[in-house]
Amino acid sequence: MKAVLLDRDGVINAVIYHQDAGVIDAPFTRAQFKLLPRVPKAIRMLNDLGLRVAIVSNQPGIAKGHMKLETLKVFERMMLSQVRAEGGHVDCIYYCLHHPEAKVRKLRQRCRCRKPEIGLLEQAAADLRVSLDECYMIGDGISDLLAGSRAGCRTIFIGRWKCEICRFTEAPYVRPAFVAKDLWEAAQFIRAEMTGTGQVASSPRCLSAGA
Ligand SMILES: [Mg+2]
Ligand SMILES: [Zn+2]
Repeated sequence: MKAVLLDRDGVINAVIYHQDAGVIDAPFTRAQFKLLPRVPKAIRMLNDLGLRVAIVSNQPGIAKGHMKLETLKVFERMMLSQVRAEGGHVDCIYYCLHHPEAKVRKLRQRCRCRKPEIGLLEQAAADLRVSLDECYMIGDGISDLLAGSRAGCRTIFIGRWKCEICRFTEAPYVRPAFVAKDLWEAAQFIRAEMTGTGQVASSPRCLSAGA
């Protein structure tokens, strides 16, 4: 394996409960942007394994009028400086800024980059000069698993695997290779797989009847 493609919200930084709208979504303000524990250390570990690291993230917040592009760039600088402080680095970052029902007219479109489409993943792989089947795709959403599987990546799910998820994942092939509680645990899994050491857990099994 040569590269790791990371979702951002819920993998690198915490998602936020927006009380006003009653929804869980990406951070929209500086104060809301917080890296999750052990993320810089995990990225450093991936770097040390010789893997390229890219972020592939749907960010429709600008299209929906929640924030400005400048804020997204501020988040990016905050994130990169914290990763750098642990001696790690991110090779490249790709966002899909579109949304089919955007308020901002020029961002209102059905694009090929919004996950579960695979445009962002293809772009990352092309720029990193790797093939998609040499990439891990790590995310906390079904759209990450779908995009990763469709692109031929090895997928890792961050979060708690619920049986309901199976119903949304089209087919067994969408199930991830591994379920991790955070990026650090995912990085441990990757290290174990790549070095042939340690314990490599198996894919989640669906507990519901008939699956
Ligand atoms: Mg996410
Ligand atoms: Zn897009």
